[in-house]
Amino acid sequence: MPDSPTPPTPPPAPRPEPDAVWRVAVPVPLPRLFDYRPADGAAAAPGDVGRRVRVAFGPRELVGVVADVGAADPDAPAPKPALAAIDDAPLLSGELLDSLRWLARYTHAPLGEVLATALPAELRRGEALPDTRRWGWRLTEAGATALPSLRAGRPRRLAERLAGAAGGAEDEGQLDAAVDGWRAAARTLAERGLAERIELPAAAPLPASAGPALNPDQQAAVDAVVGAAGGFASLLLNGVTGSGKTEVYLHAISDCLARGRQALVLVPEIGLTPQTLARFRARLGVPVHALHSGLSDGERARTWAAALRGDARVVVGTRSAAFVPLPEAGLIVVDEEHDGSFKQLDGIRYHARDFVLVRGKALRVPVLLGSATPSLESLRHAHDGRHAHLRLPARAGVAQPPRVRVVDVRKRPLEAGLSPELLAAIGAALAADGQVLVFKNRRGYAPALLCHDCGWTAHCPRCSTPEHGTAMTVHGGGRRLQCHHCGTRRPVPDACPDCGGLALQPQGAGTERIEEVLAQRFADVPVLRIDRGTTARRDALEQALAGFGTQRGILVGTQMLAKGHDLPNLTLVAVVGIDEGLFSADFRAPEKLSQLLVQVAGRAGRAARAGEVLLQTHHPEHPLLATLLAGGYGAFAEQELALREAAELPPFAHLALIRAEAKDVEHARAFLRAAREALAQVAVPGGGLALNGPLPAPMPRRAGYLREQLLLSSADRRALHAALDAALPAINALPDARRVRWSLDVDPVDLY
Ligand code: ADP
Ligand code: ZN
Ligand code: ZN
Repeated sequence: MPDSPTPPTPPPAPRPEPDAVWRVAVPVPLPRLFDYRPADGAAAAPGDVGRRVRVAFGPRELVGVVADVGAADPDAPAPKPALAAIDDAPLLSGELLDSLRWLARYTHAPLGEVLATALPAELRRGEALPDTRRWGWRLTEAGATALPSLRAGRPRRLAERLAGAAGGAEDEGQLDAAVDGWRAAARTLAERGLAERIELPAAAPLPASAGPALNPDQQAAVDAVVGAAGGFASLLLNGVTGSGKTEVYLHAISDCLARGRQALVLVPEIGLTPQTLARFRARLGVPVHALHSGLSDGERARTWAAALRGDARVVVGTRSAAFVPLPEAGLIVVDEEHDGSFKQLDGIRYHARDFVLVRGKALRVPVLLGSATPSLESLRHAHDGRHAHLRLPARAGVAQPPRVRVVDVRKRPLEAGLSPELLAAIGAALAADGQVLVFKNRRGYAPALLCHDCGWTAHCPRCSTPEHGTAMTVHGGGRRLQCHHCGTRRPVPDACPDCGGLALQPQGAGTERIEEVLAQRFADVPVLRIDRGTTARRDALEQALAGFGTQRGILVGTQMLAKGHDLPNLTLVAVVGIDEGLFSADFRAPEKLSQLLVQVAGRAGRAARAGEVLLQTHHPEHPLLATLLAGGYGAFAEQELALREAAELPPFAHLALIRAEAKDVEHARAFLRAAREALAQVAVPGGGLALNGPLPAPMPRRAGYLREQLLLSSADRRALHAALDAALPAINALPDARRVRWSLDVDPVDLY
């Protein structure tokens, strides 16, 4: 150490510290913590961080989380006491709390709102952490001795039951189901020292079945994941549909369990089917905890609590499962990592895949991303070596890749959008006892209602501007109009409101109309429609498909059918109405369309029967289709990556989008102009931050609000975040910030 010319200054004399306070993250849209004195007059201790507390916030009572413990601000008015501490011990701690702090910084959102998003609703509302341990009852020795002399009645009947229980004790859940009024009887016995409540050991292991022997590609992938255990690694499992990716996950998870660690599996919203869960349960030999939007708040909180206690060894869930505590983490899997449902579109706009990559790093565990159609973001990382690239190029077992044929429908007569060739192919597949899937990504009867006399179209009154009409979808067999953006409904008018003519006609075809036509044409087979209209509830889809079985027949559906269900007898997939996707202005449209086409095509011929895919289009020569057909998704992705790089678009640039909407468009514009000004002032000259806007959103009006946006982009992620960090205080303080509804979306996926 170099000599210092002056003697070191002595440490400052200890001053009396002002009392430490809780610095609480509260779920309000203000980017700061709020000071409170501890509830019970106790001293605030560093160990309080992560406890939930109830606090008075203005006129409201809120549940917050102690985010820090420190000295009270001497200049601020003395902090009020918190109303109550909810948890005795921190609910959020360690890696999860650290990762959530990272997420708050990355999304530039208040920590309190991020924590509220991460917690299951019951815990967010301040309810106690549910007890997920198994409790049971057994007789004491005194109880066994006294049993013969007990008076007849409920306590005696319960005592007899407990005496005969397998293992000498009975589960409370079982008693609930089998014995009315057992709790009062148990209390009577316990008061006399005859019975006692005990914690039961965790459920015994379930029988696990073995899967098929892995092929060499699968084995290599499993070896790579298992070899990475013990540290952070990110691996992209790029395997064609039906190549056996799920088998790779199952082997990697088994290894993780054998090492005594927990595994988390994220799946897309439509991928978490009872079929998937049953497969995991049958193979892993441990309870598999599901987490999805179809569960009650209580069930969600229980799974979260079980994961926190380390009792849940395998959690399979949709987007929000990215927030489960993993105190003994060993592996994180993201199935169909390209899926759009991993991105939250409102509130805290996080991306579950990206968030678990951050968590995997902090937890020092491998993160395995699987897809047949990887996102361009993940493919780029695989190319530049950030993700290990594992490939499964062929279908597993006996299944063969489906044959794809393009049907040119130019100048062909169409019936509900279906060409004669397509109808003939459906007939042939049915004649050979096969199942047919007709895929159309439009629900409803028809996408629009048009006046054939004057050209008037039914537009949504709340989602249209004079320059930009949003068509209402025809429903109810042609009788109702509905807006898919704001929910507005109205009957189809008797006559054209513009010219009074009676020539109103549904334009184009949605799933409902296709179903109608097919049911007439192929009256001797069942036709089942699957879309959000018919199967709003999660289990409704399952039941419908189970009832359909493997008999010959026709399924008509939207992308709900693109994933998750093995349909072994499906021999023909007919894809209609993709043409609008070929010409969308959204730079991600080609990627999304290619993923959808490849995934839907992958439904065909997944078992022993060969599959065929028909792609009906008015643009058979479109380069995207040509590339996909000749070289598959891989060839498309390479081309698209080159285009994105040339255009300086993601994943070669980083985006953030500030959206603003107001009844008066001038308010939204003025706010964004001021936001732009604030950003321009803090941006480093030559730092490469591009500001684009304010511009009308691609959908310039929705539900009565006019929508504008400001797009930030930079090749340098840090420059983008630095500018936001520096400018957001000023933007938050703008007078217009309270007059408009605005939001910041980092890494937006949809620029709508
Ligand atoms: P993916 O997840 O890639 O779509 P799956 O793991 O679901 O693929 O496998 C597709 C089908 O192939 C399943 O029916 C599965 O049981 C079967 N399968 C997977 N691996 C093998 C294998 N090594 N040998 C035989 N069949 C296999
Ligand atoms: Zn008209
Ligand atoms: Zn509308």
